[in-house]
Amino acid sequence: MAQEEKLVILGSGPAGLTAAIYAARAKLEPLVLAGALPGGLLTRTTEVENFPGFPEGVQGVDLMMQLQSQAERFGARIEYAAATACRLTDGGSQGLTLEDGRELAARALIVATGASPRWLGLPAEERLRNHGVSACATCDGAFFAGLPVAVVGGGDSAMEEALFLSRFASHVYVIVRRDVLRASAVMGERARSNDKLEFLWNSEVVDLLGEQALEQVRVRNRVSGEERVLDCRGFFPALGHQPDTELFRGQLELDEAGYIRLPDSGTSRTSLAGVFAAGDCADSRYRQAITAAGMGCRAAIDAERYLA
Ligand code: NDP
Repeated sequence: MAQEEKLVILGSGPAGLTAAIYAARAKLEPLVLAGALPGGLLTRTTEVENFPGFPEGVQGVDLMMQLQSQAERFGARIEYAAATACRLTDGGSQGLTLEDGRELAARALIVATGASPRWLGLPAEERLRNHGVSACATCDGAFFAGLPVAVVGGGDSAMEEALFLSRFASHVYVIVRRDVLRASAVMGERARSNDKLEFLWNSEVVDLLGEQALEQVRVRNRVSGEERVLDCRGFFPALGHQPDTELFRGQLELDEAGYIRLPDSGTSRTSLAGVFAAGDCADSRYRQAITAAGMGCRAAIDAERYLA
């Protein structure tokens, strides 16, 4: 027998937890499935400087813990579980299977599953994962005290990771595939003025070398074709993210990049009645904690009106 629920929220980042706050206050008794990374990607960052209301900044983990206790205060139930399968319907019951085999039947569903870090796709990247290769400078940076490391990417994440790593590492190579940064001006300037950072422009990573652990990174200049081998003990791809929407492929309309389509622009409604989406899984444009939170709010209001 499936466990009957009024509203299930998949994901516990800013989108999922803001939806939970609003839905709980609307007496929808939401069940939040926290997913593979409770608290979402913000728990992987250090200081969040751009979330309104925190003039001195706030640690990502602290912000998420506060959002969670705010949601729980109004009666949201948080379960540390993830859905492994779903059977979505247009306006009917939304079926979910959990990791432990349990079945849920929800009258409404908010998908706030977020996005995951992208990898280059080199075989050595997989082989040396956690042996020098990491997607999280905040988590692993301290292991590289006094050692040279490399970051790949030209966005804000790459600048943030490179700056963070400069506190520990002896030298930080920043490998950028074009000759410009995608990062915001303020982050770009901060990175360029850091003496420990060395930018390799128009450059791509060809291979990672090392048997038991990373020792070197082979880089090719895309303009001259020249190759360089960098001594590196740490390697941090910071290439942006891909939406965590595989579970819904074939059931919800997705765009070419895999983001959930919201056909009624300005609302959180997906291609199925009763299924709403919020946050990075449905937003390829803004992808900010505050925009995700705003989308979570809209999804809860849309779900409330749908259930009414
Ligand atoms: P972005 O998509 O902004 O940047 C990804 C970077 O990786 C780009 O420079 C891109 O190159 C590069 N890249 C992608 N794929 C490859 C590849 N296969 N090989 C080499 N390089 C590659 O992602 P971010 O995670 O940096 O940022 C996402 C959002 O989060 C942005 O809106 C950003 O502003 C925000 N953010 C804000 C922060 C802050 O304010 N403190 C911190 C971190 C993120 P190219 O430019 O050539 O496409």
